[in-house]
Amino acid sequence: MDENLEELPKRAKEKYAENKKFFAKLKKRPPKDLDYTMQQLHHEEFERTDCLSCANCCKTTGPLFTNVDIERIAKHFRLRPSQFIDQYLRMDEENDYVLQEVPCAFLGADNYCSIYDVRPKACREFPHTDRKKFQQISNLTLKNVAICPAAFHIVEEMKKRIKL
Ligand code: SF4
Ligand code: SF4
Repeated sequence: MDENLEELPKRAKEKYAENKKFFAKLKKRPPKDLDYTMQQLHHEEFERTDCLSCANCCKTTGPLFTNVDIERIAKHFRLRPSQFIDQYLRMDEENDYVLQEVPCAFLGADNYCSIYDVRPKACREFPHTDRKKFQQISNLTLKNVAICPAAFHIVEEMKKRIKL
């Protein structure tokens, strides 16, 4: 990916008002084929995206860990869930478990995730651009375009293809 990741927050800020307006309209009148369009846009973008040359999500933000995630990952390390929490997690202002620090402790120098097979659900689904009823996560997406170049491109393409 020849993307300048440092520039991304600035580019996202420049697009913020336009994106906000677009998502407000999308929420009011979502096209019938929105789920299908999002699947297509997501697929096209990730065909040309190499997450291993980016890892910006793992470096700058982190997932929420559900109880199911915590149990699964703790088991992987042969730890009790409480030990795993003490070692790696903290509770945020919204009472969700998040990483104690970023970059994520499980991210390797080669950008591989050392717990890939048992990683949190939120990591598997990030940046959520292929989820159904995409209009329902517009606030999250407005944030994600400043972190994830793929999400940024997908939203730019949405604005071109979806006429509201
Ligand atoms: S658990 Fe893996 S995929 Fe999730 S943020 Fe950490 S390194 Fe990235
Ligand atoms: S999901 Fe987005 S931010 Fe994360 S590695 Fe892939 S392109 Fe980068």
